[in-house]
Amino acid sequence: MRILAALILSTVACTCLAGQAAVKNVRMWPAPDRTRVVFDVDGPLEHTLFILNNPSRVVVDLRDTSLAVKVDRPTKADKLLSSIRHASRNNRDLRVVFDLRKPVRPRSFLLKPNKQYGYRLVVDLYDKGDAKKSLKESIKRAAPRNPSKLRDLIIAVDAGHGGEDPGTIGRKGTREKSVVLAIAKELQKQLKNEPGMRPVLVRRGDYYIGLRKRMKIAREQRADLFVSIHADSFKDPRVRGSSVYVLSRNGASSEAARWLAEQENAADLVGGVSLDDKDDLLASVLLDLSQTATLSASTDVGTNVLKQLGTLGKTHKRRVQRAGFMVLKSPDIPSILVETAFLSNPTEEKRLRNRKHQRKLAKAMTAGVRTFFKYNAPPGTRLAARKHVIARGDTLGRIAGLYGVSLKDLRKVNALKGSDIKVGQVLQIPSVSGG
Ligand SMILES: [Zn+2]
Repeated sequence: MRILAALILSTVACTCLAGQAAVKNVRMWPAPDRTRVVFDVDGPLEHTLFILNNPSRVVVDLRDTSLAVKVDRPTKADKLLSSIRHASRNNRDLRVVFDLRKPVRPRSFLLKPNKQYGYRLVVDLYDKGDAKKSLKESIKRAAPRNPSKLRDLIIAVDAGHGGEDPGTIGRKGTREKSVVLAIAKELQKQLKNEPGMRPVLVRRGDYYIGLRKRMKIAREQRADLFVSIHADSFKDPRVRGSSVYVLSRNGASSEAARWLAEQENAADLVGGVSLDDKDDLLASVLLDLSQTATLSASTDVGTNVLKQLGTLGKTHKRRVQRAGFMVLKSPDIPSILVETAFLSNPTEEKRLRNRKHQRKLAKAMTAGVRTFFKYNAPPGTRLAARKHVIARGDTLGRIAGLYGVSLKDLRKVNALKGSDIKVGQVLQIPSVSGG
């Protein structure tokens, strides 16, 4: 066999290894841009990985390892992996061969024990064609919007966890990753029916997406809002109720520095200001300002969502909470994290699995988002664009009736106290009536 790619030698294991490691399970998670294969092993191990072409294969040798379980066939939906073969080598090592449908960029690493998992060897097989495609797409998306054309508000809906990360697990075995995906899909469905809004799902199936990648997807989609959906857990099963989180200032300030350092794309915009031609200090001040505005918007939308969730039952906390969640750290996209309920609470676990309740949660979140954008729709969006020029004979009541909005809302968005209006005066029409 001719080795065409560099040999990657992992030296995670210590030299004091005694006896063999055993692979206890092999799990596969096909995602849009890659397939992840996870080997559950009972201890640390050394491995080497190399690529073979014609036909495309990736070979992983696990040193001093045996495999006792049956390895499933990859699903038909897997665009990259067609089969996995394995055999023992020199009576000690395990050789695993991944047969591929097309060439991949592989990456492998060993994960240390965490929560319910022990050691895991992760092999990521990235679609080679995908990198080029996504670069092209992000360039296309980064092109300035046509200012003469009104656009929809874009809401990134992010279902937490996924794939080999189940999130928290309820007493009845309910996995957070599954219920939050169902709620996210329901939220997407409901937001689609809102005039002037276009939801995009960050995670579409049962696979894991890194936290930074989630933010990147939202950025590539030019999201106006990022909503991450989760389910909570606590040691006391009595604890219950929804909570909404925004980023804490402490988390934000350290990330601001990091964000700058990691600015890969010089053309990236932060709050509409290009950073590439500014010095670092100014850039960090701009970023800070933009992040302050973003945080205030996040808190605002979070408060609206929490209020609506409160109509379904007592919320866990009465106010929006702050924490350093990575996924909330986009400096220029208002972001909230919704802990819909406690999976550790038996009643709430049951409710979280219930379609009707999932719909109610989505409805409450939709209402919160709608109320927020009613007063905060960015210029250039369809929702911000409804204006009425006062003609002779117009009254506030007639205009409210004309657009199907309440007199109270019409007064509020235009900061009107009484009923005085002048011919030629321009009134903002609140986008949605009711609330
Ligand atoms: Zn979670």
